[in-house]
Amino acid sequence: MDMFGKKVGKEERASLEVAEASRQTEWKQGSFLRGLYDGKYLWDLVHPFPEQTPEDKKKGDEYLAAIERLLCEELDPEQVDLTGEIPEGVIRKLFEMGAFALKIPESYGGLGMSKVNYGRVMHLISSYCGSTSALLSAHQSIGVPQPLLDFGTEEQKKKYLPRFRKDAISGFALTEPGAGSDPSKITTTATPIEDGKYFLLNGEKLWCTNGVIADILIVMALTPPKMVHGKEKKQITAFIVETNTPGFEVKHRCEFMGIHGAKIGLLKFTNVKVPRENIVAGEGEGLKLALTTLNTGRLTIPAAVTGASKYALRVSRIWAAKRVQWGAPIGEHEAVADKLAGMAASVLAMEAMTWYVTHAAMRAHADIRLETAVAKKFCTEMCLDVTNEALQIRGGRGYETSRSLSERGEDETAYPIERLVRDARISTIIEGTSEIMDLFITREALDIHLKRMLPLFNPRAGIFSKLKAIFDMGVSYACWYPGLWLPVFGFSNANGIPAKLKQHLIYAKRMTRRLARSVFHSMMIYQQAMAKKESLAARFVKIGCDLFAISVVCSYVASKIKNGISEKDLTLLADLFCRTTRTKIARQFHEVCYNQDGLKKAVAKIVLSGQYEWLESDIIK
Ligand SMILES: Cc1cc2nc3c(=O)[nH]c(=O)nc-3n(C[C@H](O)[C@H](O)[C@H](O)COP(=O)(O)OP(=O)(O)OC[C@H]3O[C@@H](n4cnc5c(N)ncnc54)[C@H](O)[C@@H]3O)c2cc1C
Repeated sequence: MDMFGKKVGKEERASLEVAEASRQTEWKQGSFLRGLYDGKYLWDLVHPFPEQTPEDKKKGDEYLAAIERLLCEELDPEQVDLTGEIPEGVIRKLFEMGAFALKIPESYGGLGMSKVNYGRVMHLISSYCGSTSALLSAHQSIGVPQPLLDFGTEEQKKKYLPRFRKDAISGFALTEPGAGSDPSKITTTATPIEDGKYFLLNGEKLWCTNGVIADILIVMALTPPKMVHGKEKKQITAFIVETNTPGFEVKHRCEFMGIHGAKIGLLKFTNVKVPRENIVAGEGEGLKLALTTLNTGRLTIPAAVTGASKYALRVSRIWAAKRVQWGAPIGEHEAVADKLAGMAASVLAMEAMTWYVTHAAMRAHADIRLETAVAKKFCTEMCLDVTNEALQIRGGRGYETSRSLSERGEDETAYPIERLVRDARISTIIEGTSEIMDLFITREALDIHLKRMLPLFNPRAGIFSKLKAIFDMGVSYACWYPGLWLPVFGFSNANGIPAKLKQHLIYAKRMTRRLARSVFHSMMIYQQAMAKKESLAARFVKIGCDLFAISVVCSYVASKIKNGISEKDLTLLADLFCRTTRTKIARQFHEVCYNQDGLKKAVAKIVLSGQYEWLESDIIK
């Protein structure tokens, strides 16, 4: 059975069971997004917009200035792209500056930076060199420091964390050739030996960022299964592995379309002997550790892609004003002006979402799993659009390398947009693809209903528990559902929000109720079949993302105005974002009822069967 109680194949069932068992099931408090799917518009969670304390900001400002100096003086990202190497000297200086220990508390030798300052550093570096950003973020967003901080014992923290201030680089090794989006399919084994004092690791890990140069890795492997309630239960366990252990081998350094300087590899483990004390979070807790690490780790990605997008906007603005064709700067031709306005509005939304989620992650007991997943999906997809538009605005120069532009004399405007596009492209794939983010968000968003309905869908549940479920559901939905039809007239606590933007907040509140109604109706109509309605669920995810975006943008604008930015200009930009987003939301709601999902499914089936192979004729195969 899947989470809806629907019958699924043996393979799929096994994956789903492992994934479900590894879910963080507790919601502590305060998720704006979770509220949206429950019909609750929790505006007080996003307004007033959170801000850094002056001391934290000062600490960040000083560090950013130092990093910027180092990068501009010592690192040529074009050379990194060409040679595939970040110079040793730069890596050494980054260590000297503590750039590999940014979030590690000072008590373990780190810089003890806040998540916001860490995000700001990644944002800055990503606007300049994607490879350096990958090196630092794979190391400390998902590499050994993060799982150790979250799950490590005091002994493990004391032993390993100080090394990241000195010279140790780390990576996160989960993916395998046969286990990508579905990590439950890993086959790397950890076999206990010497009465369980040690484990022998055997297997391969694919695309491990930093794996080629890492000193320490966090590796997920299968330990012997356990019997739970008479059933064999797969055990995935996380190990700290020192790469100088005999049997560890870098089998291949992978090459990609972008981030050429990142050292990403296929790693092989042959009888790599690891002591039991290197287990993190306990035996059988490895997938939970991995998924939790990714949940927090992906917080860095929105900051990184926002930095890259801002660079794209900057280049587009300068070029669109300078380049004259058909008697006017290209930025004055409506098609280009349209792009520029859209890019600026997108960057505003990316920025608002990134900093809202990053600040929210610092709130004690905050649950930001949904917010982080939405920010990752929203910002990475926006970044692909924005960087692609920048390439189009630059025309032929957008497709030409910065090196070539410089060499043929266009030194002053040799912007590396093609590299930016190549480097950014990976963002919708790593740390959970956009499609997997949709599934994750759907699962968490529907949790409210699933908890109420599960006994009904479960064929193993007896008649008594089904009757009880119907009664409980009746009571809770009788209180909840009618409230979703109440009209929304006004809006309280809108201090500082420009009058013109208040209408968008009233709209967002109204649409929140409609979203919850729509989700509920779909659950009632499709019941167990809802699990397979990925396209429908993706629409609900998009609507949730967009309502979240409108809300954080309006709140962010109020905070920017308070900090001295022109209200008129900001309102114009935010109004544009909200209006275009409302059009998107209307389309998604329309498509909930009127869509081509069935038709597409039928066509895809024929595509997969090969019957449309004639469409691939007259090409070199
Ligand atoms: C440059 C780079 C760096 C990486 N760094 C690391 C790292 O440091 N550590 C690490 O462990 N891994 C790393 N990865 C692996 C990365 O996380 C995976 O590529 C990612 O999880 C997707 O897995 P996959 O590529 O095997 O795609 P697949 O899982 O094969 O998916 C292929 C496509 O199918 C879609 N899809 C799959 N399942 C479903 C579904 N149920 N419903 C709808 N769509 C679905 C996916 O969204 C995708 O579009 C890296 C990868 C790259 C390319």
